[in-house]
Amino acid sequence: MRSLTFDELFAMLSAAALSAADLTRLREWIASIADPAECIALIEQAAAGRPCPHCGCTRKHRCGQASGLQRFRCLNCRRTCNALTGTPLARLRKKERWLPYLQCVLESRTVRDAARVVGVHRTTSFRWRHRFVPGAMRDRPESLSAIVEADETYRLESQKGSRTLSRRPRKRGGVARRRGISREHDCLLVACDRNGNTLDFHTGRGPVTVAQLDRCLRPALPTDVLLVSDGAVAYRRFAAQAGITHQWVNVQAGERARGAIHVQNVNGWHSRFKSWLVRFRGVASRYLINYSGWLRLLDARRLITPAHLLCAAAKSG
Ligand SMILES: [Zn+2]
Repeated sequence: MRSLTFDELFAMLSAAALSAADLTRLREWIASIADPAECIALIEQAAAGRPCPHCGCTRKHRCGQASGLQRFRCLNCRRTCNALTGTPLARLRKKERWLPYLQCVLESRTVRDAARVVGVHRTTSFRWRHRFVPGAMRDRPESLSAIVEADETYRLESQKGSRTLSRRPRKRGGVARRRGISREHDCLLVACDRNGNTLDFHTGRGPVTVAQLDRCLRPALPTDVLLVSDGAVAYRRFAAQAGITHQWVNVQAGERARGAIHVQNVNGWHSRFKSWLVRFRGVASRYLINYSGWLRLLDARRLITPAHLLCAAAKSG
């Protein structure tokens, strides 16, 4: 049978009565067609002038092309590299689909949904999520200032996707064996200032400790900040030890705020995070920080286009 020309196909499509669902499919498909050259140009631009990822030498010469990218040979260690060597995106294929995929990241689509929209397999969609998101989420504020709220949220530890469990499987999903916060819970620590800067940390399992607060918060808190938290003892000890002014709200006794002293912004973040996560139907503990980093990126609204995300992810770590 003779194959249809584009004009014939287009005429048929324009004559067809398209339902709302058909139109959505068609729009998504068209939006997913991208020019691979655009993606390559952005990657090369993000890496321009980068030293050799193997030895740090800045002297390198061009040495052919590979996977659509310029390849370089280092004049010092003689090894080759391209713009993505040493980044989370190294060796990922199908670059023509990356920008449409990153649009799905901006839209918080599920693995399955993004796979359908972009036209890749679900396992590819999953792999890409956990390469692009950690790459892009390195775009984070270095420090917080003025009034800083800090609080943790706990999620039941999850081994979703693991082939072998390190414990007996839970019956009926998410119920801890003990009451309260225990080693069965992942702790996600979030700190934010009143200028819209947010930092997130997966501190490990169980209640947050002074040492963990010190390791996570100390580098991000100048000594002139005012730290606000709930009444947990760990914060008081950490603040005393770090020489940081600290105020706490007695949340357990029903106290909400004393003027500017409250943790409502960070608590708001936690509750948004919880409702945003629902669509993913449970996330594995080892990816928890990727999800909080993802929401943090969306919230910060600094990277708002697929190109922004790509450039951030293509920067070396
Ligand atoms: Zn080198």
